[in-house]
Amino acid sequence: MHERSEGATEDTMRLEMIQVCRKLAREGLVAASDGNVSCRLDEAHFLITPSGRPKGDVEAEELLVVDSQGEARRGAGRPSSEIRMHLLVYQERPDVRAVVHAHPPLLTALTLAGVPFPADVFPEVWISVGPVPTAPYATPSTEEVPRAIAPFVKDHQAVLLERHGSLTVGENLSQAFYRLQKLEHAARCLLATRLFGAGLPEPLDAAQLGRLEKIFGSPIAH
Ligand code: 13P
Ligand code: ZN
Repeated sequence: MHERSEGATEDTMRLEMIQVCRKLAREGLVAASDGNVSCRLDEAHFLITPSGRPKGDVEAEELLVVDSQGEARRGAGRPSSEIRMHLLVYQERPDVRAVVHAHPPLLTALTLAGVPFPADVFPEVWISVGPVPTAPYATPSTEEVPRAIAPFVKDHQAVLLERHGSLTVGENLSQAFYRLQKLEHAARCLLATRLFGAGLPEPLDAAQLGRLEKIFGSPIAH
């Protein structure tokens, strides 16, 4: 068995990572080898998916342990090519313990259409994720990606990547995954709204949003 980290063994974290990878593939939130998942093992070590592996097929023993410089400390193969995006999040957000990058079709289509994600339309999104900005296009797997998301990471639990996909973060893997699932579900509702003949729905007003925050709190600590 691997060493303990904050109550969970590394083996448990590996299994949770694989469950998230399988769900990403099963729910069509990635295609082929798209997307990557990571979690914090301790202050200076992270588990991350290997580069180029379909998330529906990847196995627990293929996950790599990397340090805060992105150097692989354990495991064969190469860590995800988006490792610098993951490490930037962990560096900026000590509260974050898991990061999920996916290529969800409807959220990505919103960025292609140039439509900002209207988080304030959905009470459920407002209380569990909050505002979702879109980071300008950056060449996948390069240093441009962390640069593009840097202005948003501190104050947001999710960022859309123009022409590319999504980034969601959480205190644990489930939270990072379910935030993504909620956002893609909301995007499906927006598409259906359009098919029913309406445009973008009106946002909740300030009093309605205030009432939600009073009851449920804000998804981001200020
Ligand atoms: P990796 O297979 O290297 O993790 O890359 C997938 C991806 O989504 C790149 O943006
Ligand atoms: Zn990607």
